[in-house]
Amino acid sequence: MRTEHYEVVIVGAGPAGCSTALWTSRLCPHLIGRTVVLERCRHPRPKVCAGGLTAQALRLLAQMGLSLNMPYTQINHIRLLFENHRADILRPDCMRVIRRERFDAMLVDAVKAANIEVREGEEVSEIGFARGMCEVRTASGRYRARVVVGADGSRGLSHRCLPEYARYPLVGLSVDTPACPGDGDDFEKGRVTVDFSCNASGVAGYVWHFPSLDGTERRYNRGIFCSLSQCTKRGDIRGAMYAGLRRRDIETGEKIRGGYGGGYHKRRPLSRPHLLLVGDAAGGNPLTGEGIAQALAYGRMAAEEIAAAFARRDFSFRSYTPRVARSDLGRNMLACLSMGRSFYPRGPAVAVPSIAADRALRKQVGDLLAGADVDASRRGILTRTLAGCLMHARPGPRDMWKILKAMLRKADHSQMR
Ligand SMILES: Cc1cc2nc3c(=O)[nH]c(=O)nc-3n(C[C@H](O)[C@H](O)[C@H](O)COP(=O)(O)OP(=O)(O)OC[C@H]3O[C@@H](n4cnc5c(N)ncnc54)[C@H](O)[C@@H]3O)c2cc1C
Repeated sequence: MRTEHYEVVIVGAGPAGCSTALWTSRLCPHLIGRTVVLERCRHPRPKVCAGGLTAQALRLLAQMGLSLNMPYTQINHIRLLFENHRADILRPDCMRVIRRERFDAMLVDAVKAANIEVREGEEVSEIGFARGMCEVRTASGRYRARVVVGADGSRGLSHRCLPEYARYPLVGLSVDTPACPGDGDDFEKGRVTVDFSCNASGVAGYVWHFPSLDGTERRYNRGIFCSLSQCTKRGDIRGAMYAGLRRRDIETGEKIRGGYGGGYHKRRPLSRPHLLLVGDAAGGNPLTGEGIAQALAYGRMAAEEIAAAFARRDFSFRSYTPRVARSDLGRNMLACLSMGRSFYPRGPAVAVPSIAADRALRKQVGDLLAGADVDASRRGILTRTLAGCLMHARPGPRDMWKILKAMLRKADHSQMR
């Protein structure tokens, strides 16, 4: 069996692995040619995802010198639903919907253009550590390196190299369908719908309908996200998704695909000597299940750690876990976690009608979704109104305090730089 020597091996060529590779090529040009990305599939590969790129994700892409060279749906309108209540948030270009297989293939092309080698169809079966090096095994050979980056998603093997720590269990199911009459003029208006009605039956999450251009064909990605630890009724997530589709008169025979993951946890170690975790392997947004922006942000921090490690010849990566926790990314995810704990499943019943009734609040929520700066006075209105919503949903006093703190933090750190 052949053994090859590199300085950095990145396992997985999704957004997190590609971001790590691109930032490594920028921050440590001496590692170009000595870094390899190993990916078990061949791009473009299928990926269960709604393809929603938030303003933060777009900002992070721009920082990587990339633009969206592919068809996308520009979103100007976010419709929130809870049973028969409806809140419409109008905000030009607050999000873009892409096809994940094309988006990831675009990132891989950018990595190759930066002269970092990507080996596709190369599945990692084992990661080991010995004598100041790590060794990564695939069916065709062995790779020895100083650093291995685990970018192989929430179900990959790299996170198993670290002690297991509770992550917040998340589940997402999605289906790709043609446009249906119940979708109305979503494409013309650039509108996505996020329906929280499933919370009424104890399923903590939401059903989405995202208009999604496949080349020039108008299609929809629909699905359900669910935060399992917040559910008061377990089990029938698929049933809740079908109920959400029926509310739009959609009966689909298309295949439903699922993805499971874990939300970020502050105390969970994300590194050990010679290993760093990024993206879903490290943990995504526990409130929304969103993870593309997070994956891009993790990649940059990992590359900064790698640059510092080679400069100091110290590969302990002791500072990585606290660095993530202190970063805008970590603080934002923790704020989302605190909100999610109290928001699901009782909050939407009050929040959606309140947002519908209050123009200032709609503006604030739009600002937050678009990642705009929220100044202190406007933040006060947001905090009071949302806190009022949650008060009606009757979380306990300790939860209330956490929510207030979380909201202030979320508003402060709504921009992931
Ligand atoms: C139903 C659903 C809808 C979602 N919708 C959105 C959304 O609208 N917006 C959003 O921001 N996020 C969304 N997400 C989350 C988003 O898809 C993930 O957070 C994101 O893909 C994380 O990127 P990553 O690079 O960490 O992992 P991945 O994208 O999973 O990439 C990991 C890569 O590693 C490879 N790999 C795995 N194991 C190995 C191995 N042993 N050897 C080699 N390669 C390996 C995989 O093939 C894959 O290419 C959704 C998730 C789900 C489940």
